Amino acid sequence: MRYNVSQLLKDHIGATRHYSLHEDIADLDPSLKPLTDLNGSVDLIRTNEGILVRADSRTSVELTCSRCLTFFALPVRFKIEEEFHPTVDISTGARLPQPDDPDEATLIDAHHLLDLSEIVRQDLTLALPLVPLCRNDCKGLCPNCGKNWNEGACDCEEQELDPRFAVLKQLLDESD
Ligand SMILES: [Zn+2]
Ligand SMILES: [Zn+2]
Repeated sequence: MRYNVSQLLKDHIGATRHYSLHEDIADLDPSLKPLTDLNGSVDLIRTNEGILVRADSRTSVELTCSRCLTFFALPVRFKIEEEFHPTVDISTGARLPQPDDPDEATLIDAHHLLDLSEIVRQDLTLALPLVPLCRNDCKGLCPNCGKNWNEGACDCEEQELDPRFAVLKQLLDESD
């Protein structure tokens, strides 16, 4: 995900380059399990300070459900809007002064390469749910026997009947 922006840096403010995005992100982050490439589009826009990146991208990642512990695929779509800053002057090649605490992820290197991968890694990670669920109404696992309740009830249920249902059962029995 590297773009040579030397020509764009010489261009006027507002100049835009449009790219389509098809990237293998299998090795982006050891904690992420992408199931597809990253697809989408990227606009690089010349600003007075650097290059504004606007991207809209989609992929699908494998997650583990926090209730039933099964793997499932989650389609993810996220947008990127981030300004990158050059480290050398495009016309003279001189090093540009940098802030005391520059964000390394948004620096354009001395060869005018803009590398989007760290920002993609950060934004994709932020787009994922903190508590992944295979579906909103996932029933989870029986704490007693471990059976996945999404696949059906287990034999433990009768013995540990919820007290609210016990009242209901009593009423139903009485109406017979
Ligand atoms: Zn689940
Ligand atoms: Zn059970």
